[in-house]
Amino acid sequence: MKTELNILDSHIDATDKVRYPIMEHFYTIQGEGYHTGKAAYFIRTAGCDVQCWWCDVKDSWDESKHPQVETGLIADSAIDSGAEMVVVTGGEPLLHNLDALTNSLKKRGLKVHIETSGSSPLSGKLDWITLSPKRFKKPLDEVFPYVDELKVVVLTKKDLIWAEENAAKCPENTILLLQPEWDTPQSVPLIVDYVMKNPKWGISLQTHKFLGVR
Ligand code: SF4
Repeated sequence: MKTELNILDSHIDATDKVRYPIMEHFYTIQGEGYHTGKAAYFIRTAGCDVQCWWCDVKDSWDESKHPQVETGLIADSAIDSGAEMVVVTGGEPLLHNLDALTNSLKKRGLKVHIETSGSSPLSGKLDWITLSPKRFKKPLDEVFPYVDELKVVVLTKKDLIWAEENAAKCPENTILLLQPEWDTPQSVPLIVDYVMKNPKWGISLQTHKFLGVR
């Protein structure tokens, strides 16, 4: 019996021992998108090959600058924080196979959301997929059928065309949101006008920046 328990323990630990490059993980408020205002434990993986010029987390791009952290440690921190929901973001989280990380989170009863550009293959057990497509590295077609929320960052009119091209590939009931790029305030009237003329879209704001939280 003792041997069986040891085998079981080592099986459970195997998932928790897998390491990912992590820039930061912390408990906060989801500031953007459909789940705005809800408490969430953020896990920011390191590494991004999309490299948007307006990215506000450029420190995440170089994976080698960040520590490799065990999934069990991250998942225990999420549980200890009191969170019920985790948001896996980046960087580009799908650069990594997320099976082990999401297993560790879900076996502790956490809901797992992801925010991704969709430019790498899907992996992991995910309860909510937010696709934020980037023209710099387009989403893979295989990602679209699983999208719950499409959130497109808008700087110019070209991004509205890009938004519609992506929306056409998403399931019918996908939440559709346009989000002004923070340092491009001229995109706000563009978005307001577009949403009033095309009410299937809504607006997402980076409310965490107004709230002064990460
Ligand atoms: S995909 Fe995200 S993390 Fe990567 S460069 Fe663009 S905004 Fe930054």
